[in-house]
Amino acid sequence: MLKRNNRKIWNYHPNLPIQTAPYFNWQPQPLVTFKWLLNLWLPITERGLITILSIFTWIYFSPSLNRCHNFSLDWIAEIYLRNFSIMFLITGILHLYFYSFSMQGKVLKFDDRELATNSRRFTLKNQVWDNMFWSLGSGVLVWSSYEVLLMWGFANGYGILIHWENNPVWFVSLFLMLPLWQAFSFYWIHRLLHWPPLYKLAHSVHHRNANIGPWSGNSMHPVEHILWLSSVSIHWLIASHPVHVIYYLQLQVIGAVTSHSGFEELLISDKKRYALGEFFHQLHHRYYECNYGSSETHWDRLFGTFHDGSEKGLEKIKKSKYKI
Ligand SMILES: [Zn+2]
Ligand SMILES: [Zn+2]
Repeated sequence: MLKRNNRKIWNYHPNLPIQTAPYFNWQPQPLVTFKWLLNLWLPITERGLITILSIFTWIYFSPSLNRCHNFSLDWIAEIYLRNFSIMFLITGILHLYFYSFSMQGKVLKFDDRELATNSRRFTLKNQVWDNMFWSLGSGVLVWSSYEVLLMWGFANGYGILIHWENNPVWFVSLFLMLPLWQAFSFYWIHRLLHWPPLYKLAHSVHHRNANIGPWSGNSMHPVEHILWLSSVSIHWLIASHPVHVIYYLQLQVIGAVTSHSGFEELLISDKKRYALGEFFHQLHHRYYECNYGSSETHWDRLFGTFHDGSEKGLEKIKKSKYKI
């Protein structure tokens, strides 16, 4: 366990130094890469469940494209209410499980501290209320707006619409490749958000949360929501289908909920069952000027902003020129 001046820095941390994806290692490691990818998808993983959820969302809870030629309240409200429900239910259930009812205690919880109450740092003086306000108020609105725009675009012949029957290989490949685009673009958008004027205006709202919980994931200023989710615009350029748009946005939004849960895994019958939190990003919330991307890209290693969680890693980051 990592200690500083004999005090525990974390309640729990994974084995250090933390690892990043082997995709871009100088020496190709096909077997290690295959194992890494397999872990991301099987047996029951977040990525697999979001794939199923997005297909389910498209089939049962989305307006058909022929209703989306014009912007009208009926189909737009359907998308908005469905997204509001997804955000409210998934984040709410995780919060109740881990924090309200403390079902797992502090087992596999990174940060020992409780979520803040009676703190002037937060809107409504309460971390959870603050986080819910920004997630449900701004997050759902921006998330739904991007989806509405793309649905309207596909319905009117903008973008390149494909169907499962005609392009099955590309159709399936996109589910595998979009997470890489997400990781690739997130680093750059996040670095931009740490540019002092933008940090002060927008990103500081997200960074009120040095300690994080599920509601912190989407707790952002509207300007940050607009920039962060803008990478979905790739669907104007590549051949895809509305289900890929739904998948990509759910990957972003639900991924943020779980990666900020504060716990590494969900335990069922005392066994590690379902990977949730990312220590990689938890380190960013604690130390700010490190780990702007995710463990799936090499950008942080390449640009000297990678903190592997160790004491040595922290010293390196402290000396780094990247300061906010
Ligand atoms: Zn965060
Ligand atoms: Zn940040």
